[in-house]
Amino acid sequence: MLFDPTPKDNREDFFNRDEEINRVRSLSSPITLVLGLRRTGKSSIIKIALNELSLPYIYLDLRKFEDRAYISFKDLLLELEREVKKLTRKFPSLVDFLKGVKGVSIAGNEVRFNWGVKNRLNFSDLLETLNDWSKDRVIIAFDEAQDLINLRGVNLLYPLAYTFDNLKKVRIIMSGSEMRLLYRFLGVENPKSPLFGRAMNEVELRPFDHEKSIEFLRRGFKEVNVEFREYERVYEELGGIPGWLTYFGYYFIQTRNLEESMDRTLERAKGLVMEEFNNFLSKRLIAKERYMVIMKRIANGCSRWSEIKTAVEIHEGREISDSEIYNYLNNLMDSSWIVKDEEKNEYCPAEKLIGRVFRV
Ligand code: ADP
Ligand code: MG
Repeated sequence: MLFDPTPKDNREDFFNRDEEINRVRSLSSPITLVLGLRRTGKSSIIKIALNELSLPYIYLDLRKFEDRAYISFKDLLLELEREVKKLTRKFPSLVDFLKGVKGVSIAGNEVRFNWGVKNRLNFSDLLETLNDWSKDRVIIAFDEAQDLINLRGVNLLYPLAYTFDNLKKVRIIMSGSEMRLLYRFLGVENPKSPLFGRAMNEVELRPFDHEKSIEFLRRGFKEVNVEFREYERVYEELGGIPGWLTYFGYYFIQTRNLEESMDRTLERAKGLVMEEFNNFLSKRLIAKERYMVIMKRIANGCSRWSEIKTAVEIHEGREISDSEIYNYLNNLMDSSWIVKDEEKNEYCPAEKLIGRVFRV
């Protein structure tokens, strides 16, 4: 069903992204990036591609760690262990390959990863083992991979670069809502990064435009035989983010009432967006107030740099340095809360509902 508000895992329930799914499926570079704002369908597209490819895979959902100041290597190892266990249940032949790998213990058929400093599993060794074991290809998917920037105690970029260059059967898929942050983490354009200059298979999910949004709603309501007419109003109020349109459809099917469905969608958006923003703030507590002031200012209308600076200064009753303001705006752009309209030289909310949530 198109209006099911959980991530989709098959193409029939997924509207208008055939080309994008096929590009993810092509795995045409050792690393595939799936980029797009929150709720544009990244997790869905990864799940659909994994289903259709029917290759062995490991799926790591890093949103789990979103509210933490940092991720330890142990946290990551525990996730990996859970996924590798699943894989060995499906493919018992993998157990033999894991035997003897440093940091892996095997009791019966149960695989355990050690995280003690001395004898811990090395991520490169795991990748190498998967590569040796795999007959065709094996996929490691990192959903919301920009959060790996908060991983402490190990630098994943070296194993990733090694995989890219040498492990021909291992394919990595990474999604990112915070696109600039993900690029910065990978350092593709940074000569000092191990991944410098590697060409990746990039798939970007843009929000639906006006026409596609309306077609999506039309299809969704037709599918469940529900009569609906107010398409323009929905696009006008919610914009083209597929996830918000999905919530609206889902509520309308239940209530058959436009106003109530709209209210519920906005209420839902408020909850989700504020929770996500609080996660963003939890890593930047000192400047919490300032970020709120900036978001409110921008939500009330796209703003120029100087207007934003003035708003923060008035709020605090003192002068604030230019570099601090630049830093805040860059962080907000890195994490896809705001975008810069280069032509007008203004900063705007990254999408309609972010604006609505922060508007006062
Ligand atoms: P992301 O991982 O980018 O945040 P999700 O895959 O979780 O996005 O999708 C958000 C919501 O929107 C889910 O309910 C999903 O089912 C729905 N959705 C997104 N894109 C589409 C689409 N093209 N067709 C149908 N539903 C979609
Ligand atoms: Mg997702």
